[in-house]
Amino acid sequence: MAKILIVEDERKIARFVELELKHEGYEVDWAENGIDALDKILTTTPDLVILDVMLPGMSGIDVCRKAREGGYENSIIMLTAKDDIMDKVEGLDNGADDYMTKPFAIEELLARIRVAHGRQQKMVKEPKKVVLEHGMLKVDTAMHEVHYGEDLISLTKKEYDLLVYLLNHLNEAVSRETILEEVWDYDYMGETNVVDVYVRYIRQKLDDKYGVKILNTVRGVGYIIKDE
Ligand code: CA
Repeated sequence: MAKILIVEDERKIARFVELELKHEGYEVDWAENGIDALDKILTTTPDLVILDVMLPGMSGIDVCRKAREGGYENSIIMLTAKDDIMDKVEGLDNGADDYMTKPFAIEELLARIRVAHGRQQKMVKEPKKVVLEHGMLKVDTAMHEVHYGEDLISLTKKEYDLLVYLLNHLNEAVSRETILEEVWDYDYMGETNVVDVYVRYIRQKLDDKYGVKILNTVRGVGYIIKDE
C-alpha cells in the first residue's frame, strides 16, 4: 500500500484530502507545518508527498528543496495558490514533480497521484540497463555516448539505434526485415539494403577502424553481435 504524506496547514483541506485518499486505499500521514513535514519526509520516506506552498515555519518550496538535498527521491506534488506562476516555477525548479492550483478538484489530484506513483513504480520495476558493453565497446544509453576504449565514437542517430538494437539482442541473428521494423519503425517494403548500408557505416567507424569484428553477417538472414 502506498504511503502518502499530506503537508497542509488548513485542517479542513487536509482532512478532506486524507479521507479521499484513504477511501482510495492509500495510507495517509499528515504534517501541518514545514518543519514537521521535512522531518517526516526524511524519516518515514513516504511514497508520495502532497505539499502546500504556503506553510507556517518553512515554505513548501524550501521543504521541497531540503527534502531533495536530504536524498528524498519519490514524487512531490505541490499545491500552489491560483495564478501564482512564480510558485509553480520555483516549485519545479526546486525538485517538485508536478503541481496543482488551489482550489482543485479531488478527482484531478487523485489522477495526478496515480500518474506520479505509477511512474515511480515503473522506474523501480524496470531498471533499464544503462550501459551496454561488448569488449572495448561501451554504449551509455543514458548519455547517448559510444566509446571504444578511450575514444568517443560519433554515430548518427540511425547508426546508434541500430547498434543499440543489436547489442540488446546479443547472440540473436536478426533479420534485415526485423531491423527495418524495429529500428526504422516502418513495415518491410522490399527494400532492405538500407540496413546493409548502415551496417557498413558502423563497421567503418568501429570494426575497420579498430581491426575487430563486432557486427557479423549471418548469411541469408541478417546480422548478429555475438558475446565474445
Ligand atoms: Ca497553506
